[in-house]
Amino acid sequence: MGLVIALNKGRILKECLPLLAACEIEPDEDPEESRKLIFNSRAGNHQLIVTRSADVPTYVENGVADVGITGKDTILEYGEAMGFYELLDLGIGRCRMMTAGPVGVPEPQGVLRVASKFVNITRNYYQQQSRQVALIKLSGAMEIAPLLGLADSIVDIVDTGNTLRANGLEAREMICDISTRLIVNRASLKTKFDQVQNLVSQLKKVV
Ligand code: AMP
Repeated sequence: MGLVIALNKGRILKECLPLLAACEIEPDEDPEESRKLIFNSRAGNHQLIVTRSADVPTYVENGVADVGITGKDTILEYGEAMGFYELLDLGIGRCRMMTAGPVGVPEPQGVLRVASKFVNITRNYYQQQSRQVALIKLSGAMEIAPLLGLADSIVDIVDTGNTLRANGLEAREMICDISTRLIVNRASLKTKFDQVQNLVSQLKKVV
């Protein structure tokens, strides 16, 4: 039995497929074209699952997938997982988790209203700072929350800063650096040790 590898749909998928190809792991169809969500590797030994980012840790933690490739943002948001190890920084998908608010508008005194889809990261960050916040959970497009008066600040991923600028926002505090990571199910690390080690050492050569 080969490895079952869970991949994060979207930007990360695009960037990690060439890395996997360099390790001779290629899906038998183009996942960006196909509507299939489970692929066999060309060599037939591994399986690739393409899933939403938030589900990659779930699949890996439960052992449905042996390994997963997803962003540090997703891993941090998922919390203190007991079921997987983070083994490698793939050096792709680099960006920053930051707070942001309307340009030139100081943060109000008292309880800050913060909108984010990263509620755990947001809660932990402000808790560490002993700052009281009212968390507003959104699923995306956080940038519009301050514009519409729903929140004073947002917590979001920033790369070039163009999205913030286009919406009249400015980055404020840096929470952490983000990049794409390889995670491995705890049991799989034992039962499929050679295959996992092989993948890790091949990936190390190409990242
Ligand atoms: P930018 O306008 O370049 O600062 O990009 C910011 C937006 O792109 C954010 O709202 C994110 O949703 C998305 N984004 C940028 N880089 C990444 C990444 N590495 N992983 C996930 N989302 C990203």
